[in-house]
Amino acid sequence: MKIQEAKYVMSNSDYEKCPAPNMPEYAFIGRSNVGKSSLINMLVEKKSLAKTSQQPGKTQLINHFEINNAWYLVDLPGYGYAKVSKSEREKWEKMIGDYLHNRENLLCTFVLVDIRHSALAVDLEFMEGLGESGIPFHIIFTKADKLKAYQIEAQLKAYTEKLSELWEEVPPIFVTSAEKNEGREPILKAIESYNAT
Ligand code: GDP
Repeated sequence: MKIQEAKYVMSNSDYEKCPAPNMPEYAFIGRSNVGKSSLINMLVEKKSLAKTSQQPGKTQLINHFEINNAWYLVDLPGYGYAKVSKSEREKWEKMIGDYLHNRENLLCTFVLVDIRHSALAVDLEFMEGLGESGIPFHIIFTKADKLKAYQIEAQLKAYTEKLSELWEEVPPIFVTSAEKNEGREPILKAIESYNAT
């Protein structure tokens, strides 16, 4: 898919105030600092559409971007930041839960995972929540440039094994590096095929 246009639409904390659900939508989420903004910017070929290196845990809004006048890309606030207070975390859970469960045009959620980490409970629990609610998701490994090819293979294998303890069918996994501009096309292809359904 060629990205012809990528523009910021709005940010808010209430799924009911999001743009009219008149186009397919894809959400991106992961632990704070996982490389989400960098990945989004790589996908849409814009240096700073999504803001990188913000203070972790600070972006607590649902951010909508419109791509090619055809679909929405949604940058969701990250989870798992240790310094967030209990009330902040509860606010996050409600906002994200309401959005994920009710956004009717959300076709797929991409869960980002730092490829260097072994399967973390916080990520697995989040994915389990999606699975239990029947919310389709794919996994994106970020920062692949930090590992060698054989280490990437080993991480993929270990992660797949862990996931297959939870599900018979393991969700698709993409391997990316925003640093090296790698792994973009397969994700855009997946979005393209969802758009076509
Ligand atoms: P976010 O908080 O999840 O949006 O993460 P950012 O995109 O702001 O990235 C967090 C940190 O990881 C920054 O220091 C980035 O430079 C770094 N980073 C992001 N993507 C990559 C990548 O593909 N490779 C490497 N080596 N570093 C990355």
